[in-house]
Amino acid sequence: TIWQGAQTTLSLAADGLAIFRITQEGAPFNTLGAALHRDLAALVAEVIARSEIRALLMTSGKPDFVVGADISEFGSLFAQDEAGIIATNAPLQSGFSALADLRVPVVVAIGGMALGGGLELALCADARVVSEKALLGVPEVKLGLFPGLGGTVRLPRLTGVEEAMKMIASGAPVPGAKALAIGLADELVPAEELEARAGALALRLAGDPAGLAERRRLLRGPVAGAEAVDFDRLIAATRKASPPHQPAAVCAAEMMENTSRLSRDEALQIETARFAALARSQAANALTGTFFAERQVKKAAQKAAGDAPRVSSLYVLGAGIMGGGIAWTAARAGMEVRVKDISEAALQKAMEEARRLAAREVARGRLSEEKAQACLARIRTQTDDNGADQADLVIEAVVEKLEVKRQVLAALEPLLRADAVIATNTSSLRVGDIAAALADPGRLVGMHFFNPVPVMPLLEVVRVKATRPEALALAVRCGLDLKKTPVVVSDCPGFLVNRILTAYINAFTRLVAEGVDFRAIDRAMEAWGWPMGPALLEDVVGMDTGAHVIEVISAGYPERMAADYPDVIAAMARAGRLGQKSGAGFYAWSRGSDGRLTRAEDPQADRLVEGLTGGVVKTLSEAEITERLMLPTLLEAICALEEGVVGSAAELDQALLLGIGFPAYAGGALRYADWIGAKALLARAEALCAGPAGAAAAPPALLREKARDNGRFYG
Ligand code: NAD
Repeated sequence: TIWQGAQTTLSLAADGLAIFRITQEGAPFNTLGAALHRDLAALVAEVIARSEIRALLMTSGKPDFVVGADISEFGSLFAQDEAGIIATNAPLQSGFSALADLRVPVVVAIGGMALGGGLELALCADARVVSEKALLGVPEVKLGLFPGLGGTVRLPRLTGVEEAMKMIASGAPVPGAKALAIGLADELVPAEELEARAGALALRLAGDPAGLAERRRLLRGPVAGAEAVDFDRLIAATRKASPPHQPAAVCAAEMMENTSRLSRDEALQIETARFAALARSQAANALTGTFFAERQVKKAAQKAAGDAPRVSSLYVLGAGIMGGGIAWTAARAGMEVRVKDISEAALQKAMEEARRLAAREVARGRLSEEKAQACLARIRTQTDDNGADQADLVIEAVVEKLEVKRQVLAALEPLLRADAVIATNTSSLRVGDIAAALADPGRLVGMHFFNPVPVMPLLEVVRVKATRPEALALAVRCGLDLKKTPVVVSDCPGFLVNRILTAYINAFTRLVAEGVDFRAIDRAMEAWGWPMGPALLEDVVGMDTGAHVIEVISAGYPERMAADYPDVIAAMARAGRLGQKSGAGFYAWSRGSDGRLTRAEDPQADRLVEGLTGGVVKTLSEAEITERLMLPTLLEAICALEEGVVGSAAELDQALLLGIGFPAYAGGALRYADWIGAKALLARAEALCAGPAGAAAAPPALLREKARDNGRFYG
């Protein structure tokens, strides 16, 4: 070793090959942070000073190379304004270029992941040697960014624009063989030969100055073949594939149309400037924030689960849509499951559905046939109470009727072990009202799954005052074992997600009652970023279910959710317009020969609405519609946080992102509120509250407090 940095070492062999090894002690992975940047700058100086170095091999002391930027430094980076971000990043760019422009050839050995900033570092080398286990990618788009340390410049100069754009826009890494095929890697070698082969290549390049010069000429000039790229098509396709309001990939494509014709150094300058602008975007703010929030939410769940034992025996009551889904998900996770229903037909249907889900996983290569059969064999269906005494946990998913739930659970309870926990999957009843029917109410929690259970990642775990800590912990542990994201909430009408959703749907029905066209509302909300507008959503959910849930939850918040106007969803339900399942709701639905449902306008829906509004028509702009729907939604979220329904802003937002597809670019209701700013939000709420939205837009005390203190919902 001839030199040592904070996270790196440099050694020199007799043949003039210097080996620069990155090893971050005490961390599972190498990441690219300020310390490594400093080491790199020192390395460059060292190599320049030592004429005995003929070639440089850059490698890692860990299985992976460098897995990305040190995201713990993101917060302070993005807190700066554009000029500040440029001032931070420009020297890093120069540092990378100094490495790329060293007198000696540089080769990188990549045995595992080289991602984000890690791949951008590797792109500074003259060549890359990868193993079969290598994984090269630029996932920045998932954080609302494009690679900003030369990635958009160096990548296309190696692979061409099309392949580079694929990697940048998808964020998906490519394995070693693919990297070789697209020109990103120079050699694909067995893992055990990785460093030897990379070192040999470096020395070969040292002995071939003309070859090296040619490589560098290609990397420093414009992108070869850029004139032939159809950028209009590429940009349009990128736009189409991008999630709503996440401009990073399109920005990269538009920028590359320009920068691929420029020299490397001109291109890098533009990249730095554009990156800084993008880093200030709402999407980058939300997606990087969410990245941290996800970890925080997982930690909170782990903590809530404590040392609760694993559920090995699960008893599911009710084999309907939810019970069936829960049974399969649990069996898939290795639990022994008994499902009880009063209807033999329901049990058969649930098993059919489980077999279908199993077959699908087998077809997708996620499960072997043998394991799938083993999962299915773990589900036992029954109409009696057999085996109730073995259950660690009971999940009740019978019909949504308080009396039925109370009766069923009161009858089952005496058969259970004293330490067995009971969970209810009710979506609109109070868990406390169900608990009152039990001899031991302390064993009851809510486990509110979302439909379809095998797919939806969120689980609201509902705590009642009486709930014993061990019961809550067991439910959270079970949620984690089912691979869900459990969020602990307290017992209130609609819990967290449906409560906030109800505020949103009420804002929708109020607007329809004022005479605003529901199609215009759907368009505005889809343009804002929701996967579907509220009218379409109700058609999918089913008007009877929707009307019931809204009525029950709204009744719990009479001060903000009293319906003092004719409710279009209830009216549709009364008229038998149940949505997709009845063939008509807000839209008319028909099933094509391929079995797909298609939607059409339905004049009868308009007639029903006219009956409610007396034919009044009100035209609002997209922005006005958005304000009317989204503000009450944010305010309800703030109320829920204020009341302590959920432990943190991160958990609240994560529940909305995972539970109802809240648009990722906004990052959840509270992150969106922070983006608007408490002062501005308060002013807008006050204005809306004074208008037709009334009490639904009344600013909660917590918002007033934040506005006064210039505070944020995220600390
Ligand atoms: P479902 O109608 O599909 O299934 C209910 C099942 O319970 C039926 O198979 C019925 O035969 C059975 N059942 C009725 N009485 C019973 C009894 N005494 N003992 C055993 N089984 C009995 O309903 P679902 O959509 O699966 O909903 C079940 C629960 O889950 C409800 O509380 C609902 O509010 C809640 N939930 C539903 C959704 C959803 O989107 N469907 C989402 C979250 C929560």
